[in-house]
Amino acid sequence: MSKFRGKTQNNQPLADWKAIYADCRKHEQFLIEVRKYDPAKEISNQQIKYWHAVPIEEFANYTGYSKWKSEQWLKRECGEQYFMHELKEEENRRGIVMFECLNQHCRDLFVIPKRGDHGVLICPQCLSDNTRLFFMASKTELSTKDFNVVLENTYDFMASINRPIQAPDKHWRENQ
Ligand SMILES: [Zn+2]
Repeated sequence: MSKFRGKTQNNQPLADWKAIYADCRKHEQFLIEVRKYDPAKEISNQQIKYWHAVPIEEFANYTGYSKWKSEQWLKRECGEQYFMHELKEEENRRGIVMFECLNQHCRDLFVIPKRGDHGVLICPQCLSDNTRLFFMASKTELSTKDFNVVLENTYDFMASINRPIQAPDKHWRENQ
């Protein structure tokens, strides 16, 4: 599969049309898809891909938690200021309502099964009622720049638990 990028200037789409034509000719049938290219968004897709493939994978291996739970933990440990919000901020945003066990020996995170049905929250892990309700924003709400800060924090955090991870350099991309 080949991909071509272009841009529109003075209402004219500029691309390597000759190369596109030559590529199409190689196939008896072919499909051309055109979509908007947004450099910031493309980088962000790379970040998300890396986030799932490296830090979450490594943290899940380390803790034995599910990938989902590992992601929530990493969001808290490495991006609390971006992801964890007061409950009143949940409206019209992407994310989930969760609660956190404030027992320092536990600190586990749980999802609230039913919206609005908060009741008294007891940590099922350690039975502590010292818990806190919050809104966990979706990572898609973050800008590329903010997510980079989260990734930087992730390297430090993983190193602090003796599971250093590789940054998303050329080498990592080549292995994908
Ligand atoms: Zn607990």
